[in-house]
Amino acid sequence: MKAAILAVGSELLDPLRRETNGAYVTGRLREIGVDVFARACIADDRDWLEAAFREALARADVVISTGGLGPTEDDLTRDSAARAVGRSLRRDEGILEWLRARFARFNRVMAPVNEKQADVIEGASVLPNPRGTAPGQWLDLGGRLLFLLPGPPGEMQPMFEDQVMPILRERAGGRVLKTRVLKIASMGESDVEQVVAPLYKTFENPRTTILGGAGQTELHLTAEGASEAGVEALLEELAAGLRGLLPGRIYSEDGRELAEVVASLLRERRLTLALAESCTGGLVAARLTAIPGASDFLDRAYVTYTNQAKVELLGVDPTLIEAHGAVSEEVARAMAEGARRAAGTDLAVAITGIAGPSGATPEKPVGLVHLALSGTVGERARRAQFPGDRQRVQGQAAQAALEMVRRAVLGLSAG
Ligand code: ATP
Ligand code: MG
Repeated sequence: MKAAILAVGSELLDPLRRETNGAYVTGRLREIGVDVFARACIADDRDWLEAAFREALARADVVISTGGLGPTEDDLTRDSAARAVGRSLRRDEGILEWLRARFARFNRVMAPVNEKQADVIEGASVLPNPRGTAPGQWLDLGGRLLFLLPGPPGEMQPMFEDQVMPILRERAGGRVLKTRVLKIASMGESDVEQVVAPLYKTFENPRTTILGGAGQTELHLTAEGASEAGVEALLEELAAGLRGLLPGRIYSEDGRELAEVVASLLRERRLTLALAESCTGGLVAARLTAIPGASDFLDRAYVTYTNQAKVELLGVDPTLIEAHGAVSEEVARAMAEGARRAAGTDLAVAITGIAGPSGATPEKPVGLVHLALSGTVGERARRAQFPGDRQRVQGQAAQAALEMVRRAVLGLSAG
């Protein structure tokens, strides 16, 4: 089954407004094997709306609109959808009664404009809205399905879940589609591809796609089947094989980001951490403090940008900087040791590098980053050369620092 989603509302075309209903509905439809072929935001305009409904219904098996079901002048969804399917609107007595009662409950008299919300396309069934005044409706047009739902996500989502999903699940023939995302921080996209392609290419179901991002690679496994349990089994079979090929490399299979994984690990093992950041300027600290309750494991973070700061705050020996430069393994190690000593934590991790675009020398190019870890779990250092602009180098360095903590705590190899 092919679906199209129309998000109705001029306000959704504002550059600062985020349209979220489309993504929500797409995610739920995927799970029952319904593929979304188009998603559009349409202004509160009669002609554009009518044309959008016409076009969507000409191509899709299921058309779902959200928004524009309110009582005001600019709520045109009902009207435009009715024109698109060439049917008239009828005023539904049941909805009128329900609307009047709802207003009475709030000690208000219903204004005549609200009666519009009782309009139903000829032949459509009503989808009650327990959380708002705009009911939805749906229509079977000889096998093509049209659903009109209200816009507020808090109203739309429970209606979609409780009323639309059961209808679509049955029509979709009980197919289940699920995606599992395996995340890897310590290998680039092409390295991962080389290792795993021979295995995943032997699988037709799940299908696998590889996505490279700043400092991580993701494997998206998507399986299809008749039942949830069957699909989970298919996913697990391939995931188990991939784990075997990438021992210790996969940090998450449940959507969690690396910072969250590191946070849980530190919390579980009751380990405390200090940070000494130079070229990342506090990015690791920001990622960790984005997690509620980060004070359980994060003691402090130093942003030591100048040589002087490294000397004053972390006790780095100035002769070390003179001899090897601020971006060196020696200084990274001294920063980690200094941060750990000053904070009295179990672990400290340090990052020093050249984020660019300036500051490079022939021996030390842009993207060169030295990372070091000092702690009860051992001492580690790593030299990395990251590609990309300043922001990408910083992002990759932050990921590498978090991965260094994860690998050290789990006793995995440094590389
Ligand atoms: P109501 O009776 O509540 O007006 P409605 O169906 O007319 O219902 P809209 O007026 O279109 O709903 O939307 C109300 C609000 O819901 C919008 O201002 C917006 O905040 C939110 N909303 C609507 N559509 C979306 C969307 N696609 N994504 C995110 N938020 C949305
Ligand atoms: Mg509205």
